[in-house]
Amino acid sequence: MLPVLLGILLSLAVSALSWAGPSYRLELELHPVDALWELEGKAIIAGHAPADLGALLFRFYQGYNAPFTVVSARDDEGELPVYPVDATTFGVPLPLSRGQTFSVTLEYAAEIPPFPGGGYGTFSVAEDVVLLAQAYPLLLPWDEERESWTLEPILSWGDQVVAEVADYSVTVKHPPTWQVVATGEERISGSGITEVRGRNLREFAFVLIKNYTGTSRMADGVEIRSWHPRGLRGAGGKALELCVEALSLYGELFGEYPFPELDVVAVPLVRAAGVEFPGLILAGIEYYRRYQTGEGELIFPMIFAHEVAHQWWYAQVGSDQVREPWVDEALATYTSGFAMANWGLYGELRAYWERTYELGRSRNPSATPFDPLWRFPEGKGYGGIVYSGGALFFLELEKAMGRERLLSALTGYLTEFRWKLATGKDLLSILVEEGGEAVEGVIRDWRRAVP
Ligand SMILES: [Zn+2]
Repeated sequence: MLPVLLGILLSLAVSALSWAGPSYRLELELHPVDALWELEGKAIIAGHAPADLGALLFRFYQGYNAPFTVVSARDDEGELPVYPVDATTFGVPLPLSRGQTFSVTLEYAAEIPPFPGGGYGTFSVAEDVVLLAQAYPLLLPWDEERESWTLEPILSWGDQVVAEVADYSVTVKHPPTWQVVATGEERISGSGITEVRGRNLREFAFVLIKNYTGTSRMADGVEIRSWHPRGLRGAGGKALELCVEALSLYGELFGEYPFPELDVVAVPLVRAAGVEFPGLILAGIEYYRRYQTGEGELIFPMIFAHEVAHQWWYAQVGSDQVREPWVDEALATYTSGFAMANWGLYGELRAYWERTYELGRSRNPSATPFDPLWRFPEGKGYGGIVYSGGALFFLELEKAMGRERLLSALTGYLTEFRWKLATGKDLLSILVEEGGEAVEGVIRDWRRAVP
């Protein structure tokens, strides 16, 4: 996510198991009912038990924004009970031994509220777009070290999803005048029926659009597509160009983009300028409008530089976005500096980082870039400290160990943790291994960043 900073701009991988991650077969049916839409869903979630378990835990991440109801749960043997764990999480009792396969079918229903709903507005109905992030139950990841499910608090700011990558096969039934744009590859299989398939997706998200137009380009074997309302052709074309360039640059720096396509969609958002999903970027439509009026704001290229970087730091290397949001956000922000430099905007970006870090510290003086999301109540100082401060931390590392060695450490981190969940400790140990004492010094200084 790239936050909107008001007042400034107008090696313990949890999934390091010998067997493959879970798989999701989703059947989703969407109907408009006045101002809101109804969703009827069936999710068949299969996998291997990560430990000896008495139950499986699932979460509706959007459950705090909209009512989700589990209609039924079953496996091959028959019906299963469901019990609530917290407002968004439920358990399905199922005794399993470590490594044992399971397949649970969950039928559920939800109401999609009018925009913005809660959070960034990524589960809501707007005029020509329906946003459907986390429109299904996600199996919680198992934390090997704590020997428990990764069950973080749900907060109303920041990114919430902590998930293992999975293979997805999805059928979406929707009114035929709407089009599906999703993580994974879309294929229209009938009037109002779209199939989506994706491998190694950290989560599945999609939007329904109408009265939109798209432009696309092939680059390094990847199809990059930009979707926007017809009136925003100029900004939509620029978004496409920026994504193509960032994708190819980060590919050279860290290793190839791993999915066959990348979709970028202009959508209404609140409290975020952009939001990342694997192979899908949702970008704030108001920035497209402002771009078209020639306002030339720094934030427009920043959105794409940042969200494309998340295709490496989030989509490929996952982390606990609630407990350690810096792990992907500081890295994505630092990485965005390379694209911004290519576009001649590095000086401005650097000044922005310094200004917003100071501002963040003045708003939340006891927080550091390494703190969990809950140390930033209502998001106070979050963007400035974790994103901008986190990027400045990486710049200090660059100074201490040299850019080449830092990039080599990050490539090593990507190789070791691709398709897994990494921790801050994993990342820091790789940096120390590559950079030695100089890096240890920078980490010590920054851990005590608060005066
Ligand atoms: Zn982000």
